[in-house]
Amino acid sequence: MGILNSSTFAGMKVFKFGGASVQSADAVKNIADILKKYGSGELVIVISAMGKVTNALEQVLDLWWDNKPYQEKIKEIQAYHFTIMDGLFAEKTDAVYDEIENYFIALEHYFEKELERNYDCIYDQVVSFGELISTKIISHYLNRIGYRNKWVDARHFIITDNLYREARIHWDTTVSLISRRVGEMVKEMPVVVQGFIGSTKDNSTTTLGREGSDYTASIFANALNADEMIIWKDVPGIMNADPKKYADAIMFENLSYQEAVEMTYYGARVLHPKTIKPIQNKNIPLNVRSFIHPDAKGTIITADAPIQKDVPIIILKEKQILISLSTKDYSFIAETNIEKIFDEVVRCGIKVNVMTNSAISFMICVDTMEQKIADFISSLENEFTITTTPNLELLSIKYYKENTLQELLKGRTTIMEQRSGDTVQLVIS
Ligand code: ASP
Ligand code: MG
Repeated sequence: MGILNSSTFAGMKVFKFGGASVQSADAVKNIADILKKYGSGELVIVISAMGKVTNALEQVLDLWWDNKPYQEKIKEIQAYHFTIMDGLFAEKTDAVYDEIENYFIALEHYFEKELERNYDCIYDQVVSFGELISTKIISHYLNRIGYRNKWVDARHFIITDNLYREARIHWDTTVSLISRRVGEMVKEMPVVVQGFIGSTKDNSTTTLGREGSDYTASIFANALNADEMIIWKDVPGIMNADPKKYADAIMFENLSYQEAVEMTYYGARVLHPKTIKPIQNKNIPLNVRSFIHPDAKGTIITADAPIQKDVPIIILKEKQILISLSTKDYSFIAETNIEKIFDEVVRCGIKVNVMTNSAISFMICVDTMEQKIADFISSLENEFTITTTPNLELLSIKYYKENTLQELLKGRTTIMEQRSGDTVQLVIS
């Protein structure tokens, strides 16, 4: 990249604000303060649905799906947003009220149509309202208080396939749309955009998986060659363990992309698992920091952060099921059997977190997804004897020490254990 090109993007930043950072009028005012202080220059602001709105919209859908009354739930969600607006806008006649009301009318109308019963597709059409509504309210509010910004619809830029609820990005199209069009817009003023949502090329709304707004932010950062991305969170930064579970958890000041990616792989929920790759590919530093104490530096994730082997990284993944398969004819679990099992894993969309095999049996520890697991079992139970053990947890520790490990395992039963290099993974009950 030539000097001209890189200077075009000098000072470009991407901020991401999640649901907790915009869950009330005061919370929105707080992020406005953050933007006034840190949000000058070329900036893309990615925002999630307010508070727990995505969950609430999931409930609306489930009520409708089960032929139960869902209208009250929609009214509740509407009232929640109107309360926030009342705390932000002096005049009830503000144009924003009509705009937001129209979204709720559109949502109700959507359910009144003849809908093909494709749950995942309908899911995306419904839950995406959360992000559209939150960004509209916040963009209006910021403009009212003099922080000029432009609201854009992420669905014009984030182009995906039609794997609803877990849509995959059409990378080249997305990057070229963002870099050409958003790249121009941010020169004028900051851009406010929804996280989590995208669109197929035939204009059907998709979503990128729960908590996917982090990923949206890193797609924008990548496409715009941002100099920095900041995820503003309700925690001070990235901790080596969940502070709610481990009293002596500490925060990393620096972390490498590699450690961060591994943490998300083992199940750390602080970042969406797909967040790191797009920024790592462009060597963009990621700062995870607190919207409650915005002056504190938080964690900075870069390529060359020093590795701290004296700090164990402890990640607990809940809701695991152990599936054990043994051959009925005493044939060995060798290549062909493993291939058969994995063909079904892929077909059913099961996520394997750890696996081991012995002579005639094979064990996988997977996320609890009842429907998919039932499908998997029924397709293999003719050939294998299959047993499942539900309600387990997967504990992964990098840079473990034997004594801390014993401490963590007190009172727990280990069902499966795997050590490799610096890392131990244990399936426990
Ligand atoms: N609102 C979506 C969710 O709660 C996306 C996000 O927050 O990142 O999953
Ligand atoms: Mg959220």
